[in-house]
Amino acid sequence: MTTSNETGSIKFQCNWIQTDPLKEEVITEINHWRNILFNNKLIGVYPNGIGYGNISIRLTDKEFLISGTSTGHLENLSTNHYSTVIDYNFSKNELTCKGQIKASAESLTHAAVYEMDLRTQAIIHIHNKQMWDKLLNQIPTTSSNVEYGTPQMALEIKRLFNTTDLLEKKVLVMGGHEEGIISFGENLKEAGDLILRYL
Ligand SMILES: [Zn+2]
Repeated sequence: MTTSNETGSIKFQCNWIQTDPLKEEVITEINHWRNILFNNKLIGVYPNGIGYGNISIRLTDKEFLISGTSTGHLENLSTNHYSTVIDYNFSKNELTCKGQIKASAESLTHAAVYEMDLRTQAIIHIHNKQMWDKLLNQIPTTSSNVEYGTPQMALEIKRLFNTTDLLEKKVLVMGGHEEGIISFGENLKEAGDLILRYL
């Protein structure tokens, strides 16, 4: 059952189907890029222990593989640390995933990008204060009133696709999620290089 908090946003719900670990070859390339991002502290952990950043690849029209929740602090991920999102519902702020680990609430933001651009095969969400300060409102930026992990974030992403040049830029700033930036591309290298270019 979903509940509403005082700000009126619907609490995120993850329906998790526990399955066997993935095959090694499924994660080879995504893990390669995840390592590059981790080594550049674009995915990682804050001193308070809260992890940040995630990475995903499209599997089918509606399914994608994404790094699991609370894995930001881990230097190396294994097949146990990726989750497959198999279904989602923006308005209910709900998703269904399978694997050895749950998918993060930010998966719905990834889902919104995949839905808006069918050519997108890979999405990267990183945190970087300097990059965020520099790019805020200079490139497509979601409203500062919209927090991550809310149904409004998916709507904001859709709005950016419809009203800005996001489809060409392929990088956006999450205005209401400090340090949060998203890039996407037709493969992991395109999405990754877009971020590394700004470093
Ligand atoms: Zn984030």
